[in-house]
Amino acid sequence: MTLSTHALTGAIIVSLLPNEPVVGLTVAFLSHFVLDMIPHRDYELLSLNQEAAKRGVVEMAWGRAFIWDLGRIGGDALLGLVLAVGLGFFLDGQWPLLLLGGALAGMLPDFLQFWHGLSRWRILDGLQRFHATIHTKIRLKNNLFLGVISQVGLVILLWMTRLWLS
Ligand SMILES: [Zn+2]
Repeated sequence: MTLSTHALTGAIIVSLLPNEPVVGLTVAFLSHFVLDMIPHRDYELLSLNQEAAKRGVVEMAWGRAFIWDLGRIGGDALLGLVLAVGLGFFLDGQWPLLLLGGALAGMLPDFLQFWHGLSRWRILDGLQRFHATIHTKIRLKNNLFLGVISQVGLVILLWMTRLWLS
């Protein structure tokens, strides 16, 4: 899933449990793995070492492609953060920091994956293996429209559920 989808999901989750931020943030973090199990479209990372990726290690090669990837990842994450905090607009401006935290917690596994590839911290090996194993192998590759619409639809569905629950 895109980082924006993870961020919005995390923010929606914490907004349901504003009085239990630790529980909310934990569930937001865990939601990442649930979303990754759903067949979806990810944008191709051009600098990704495909061989290492098969072993579940995110290794990126320095160069032009890496800068381009970093720009897209950064733009995606930033969009997610802005939209997540923007949800506060529909919640009477409540909990901006909590929404931000929820968005960061939702995206955190992907940042850890990136950091694991960079640092090779052994402590993250287990989490990384779990992340790679649980991630769907079905990717909606050639259908950009379906890939985007399905993720927007998912976020709308989660938001509607949230409104219905509260
Ligand atoms: Zn992920």
